[in-house]
Amino acid sequence: MGLHNTSHPGKAGLEELVPSRYAVRIGEIDVLVVSDGVLPLPTEMLGHNADPAARAAWLGDMFLPADAFDWSLNVVLVRSGDRTILIDAGLGLDPNLNLPRAGQLVKRLDSAGIDLASVTDVVLTHLHMDHIGGLLVDGVKDRLRPDLQIHVSAAEVKFWESPDFTHVHMPQGFPDALKATAKRFMEEYRSHLRQFDEQYEVAPGVVVRRTGGHTPGHSVVRLASGGDRLTFAGDAVFAVGFDHPDWYNGFEHDPEEAARVRVRLLTELAATGEQLVATHLPFPSVGRVAVDGDVFRWVPAFWDY
Ligand SMILES: [Zn+2]
Repeated sequence: MGLHNTSHPGKAGLEELVPSRYAVRIGEIDVLVVSDGVLPLPTEMLGHNADPAARAAWLGDMFLPADAFDWSLNVVLVRSGDRTILIDAGLGLDPNLNLPRAGQLVKRLDSAGIDLASVTDVVLTHLHMDHIGGLLVDGVKDRLRPDLQIHVSAAEVKFWESPDFTHVHMPQGFPDALKATAKRFMEEYRSHLRQFDEQYEVAPGVVVRRTGGHTPGHSVVRLASGGDRLTFAGDAVFAVGFDHPDWYNGFEHDPEEAARVRVRLLTELAATGEQLVATHLPFPSVGRVAVDGDVFRWVPAFWDY
């Protein structure tokens, strides 16, 4: 039998030969990274304040195509104590933006045997479409528990009441899509929101902490148990951010502050040696950070089967 990355109708488990989930254990906490797919965007988004030649050189050095960059979309499911916590929810579906390779989360949670009704909490790093859209897919809300708690920083909720898009650098159509999705999310899920100011412990060893920068209420999730630590950095760190932490990502609403947040976080993670997972690092995005002179180095974890 040839190994084709194609569908095998009627044969459960053979539908995708590229893996879409990866499990890690942090002390007593179970962590599952699930891929929501990829989101191709113009390479300018990687650093709109960078010299185009420097951007092209980075892509060339990484053996990546020059015209478009595939952003990974990683979502994390965490089990700690009696809580099952979904951290972010993927892109969902936006027919206007034609992003067919993203929005795989629900299908992939199903194939991992994760029942949406088992999720007790959702933590949202911020309210951009690629982090909340999965909750707006048809039928998803009906499968979630009526007592589901959705944790998000108060600053993030406030920001989306009148969002400032003057410092972003997004492809055409994105600002409107992001505003519309955040608005729809607030309408659908307002009664589930549990807002925090600076940080909140969702479950034993699972702390969500506001960083600001990418959006004013952007937050990261710190996991700590039995001497092990892992940080889910949301959109504080991108693939290019180790070599060029000062490049402004097109989706950052306050790029200068986002760069400061990135450097602070990467410096801290390099010092602690803890594991890092981030939304847009290449799947499964589990690795560590090293300091290399003025910049950083991404050290991917060795896969452990
Ligand atoms: Zn994002």
